Amino acid sequence: MSIWMEGFKAVRTLNAAGFEAYIVGGAVRDYLLGKDVDDVDIATQASPHQVADIFTKGVHINQEHKTVLIPGEKGPIEITTYKGETLAEDLQKRDFTINALAMTETREVIDPYGGRQDLQKRLLRSYDAQKRLSEDPLRMLRAARFISSLGFEADRQLVKETTVQKAALQRCARERVVVELEKLLKGMETEAAFAFLQETGAIHSLPGIQITDSQLAELMRLPKQQWDSGDRAWLEFAICTGGPSSIAALPLPKKRKQLVAAGLKAFEYRQTQQRWSDWQLYISGLAIAMQIEEIRAGRQLPSIQKEELAEQWSALPIKAKSDLAITGRDLLHAKAAPGPWMKEALQAAEKAVVTKKCPNEKAAILAFLTMREDGK
Ligand code: ATP
Ligand code: MG
Repeated sequence: MSIWMEGFKAVRTLNAAGFEAYIVGGAVRDYLLGKDVDDVDIATQASPHQVADIFTKGVHINQEHKTVLIPGEKGPIEITTYKGETLAEDLQKRDFTINALAMTETREVIDPYGGRQDLQKRLLRSYDAQKRLSEDPLRMLRAARFISSLGFEADRQLVKETTVQKAALQRCARERVVVELEKLLKGMETEAAFAFLQETGAIHSLPGIQITDSQLAELMRLPKQQWDSGDRAWLEFAICTGGPSSIAALPLPKKRKQLVAAGLKAFEYRQTQQRWSDWQLYISGLAIAMQIEEIRAGRQLPSIQKEELAEQWSALPIKAKSDLAITGRDLLHAKAAPGPWMKEALQAAEKAVVTKKCPNEKAAILAFLTMREDGK
């Protein structure tokens, strides 16, 4: 069952129990835009406890946000109790008119704030921008991310109010900022989105992020391309904003920060070298090397074909340290007491094998290491 059908099923279940319920927000918007829907939100008159009583199995209640997660085949479905007394009040409090849409069990669209017309005009507009932005300053950054992901234009009032209220963005939790900035970076129209943040001055109010004018100009030159991968989005961001320090203060997973740092090093390497040395290719790994070539191509820099890289990769004598024909244990057999020399010797062996100075055979590597010792 599609996530969409699962959503309707939950709406029917709530309706059958005597409660108003609708699919709301982004799912309705994306449906009307003819886009794939990958997550469905439901708004209902029922309280979280009433919802939990109806679905019972595997439900997870968040009392603070009045939300109940019910399990679905494609991931959990979020059922939120109306903010306010009625559906219309709930929709009014949503960020933009294009998200203030609801759909009934019979697929009838409810649109009290002109969301469908704005979808047609490709206009991002808040119903009472002054109020909406002061209720939740993050909406200013969400505006930029919808400009990027949908290619819409911001309504004048939204631009004006963002200019007035931008300083409040500083108060937003960095976790929420990161989510929206990532969606912005993954979108197609990053140039327009950063232009909005520049025009309103909001770019200088993002917590944990410092961007100079020249870095902003780089961000605005990002290729018009959509990325599925968050790693890729943040690597592109870090390249534009001057290195790993630009994302150091952001709450990104450690693994992602490490990947970005490795990507940056590889990108810098390729800025000074016309080709990948065997050693650098081995250190970076094929996936990162290919990504760097893609990033270069996106920036109109000369780039190497993927096939060529793949060929060079497959010709490498080893692909990882674990492929090495000797281990620390072999060194101990052949040599003396354990110590820091072992790590250094293994690294030397690794480099010698990768750069084909020495075949990947135990005896040859040990001979190479002895020769190296003697040469010191
Ligand atoms: P996506 O396609 O990225 O999921 P979305 O519009 O569904 O986009 P979500 O962040 O999943 O965005 O939020 C779901 C819905 O909740 C939105 O469509 C909007 O109606 C409402 N919403 C979410 N965050 C806010 C916010 N900060 N202020 C107001 N309404 C919000
Ligand atoms: Mg959503």
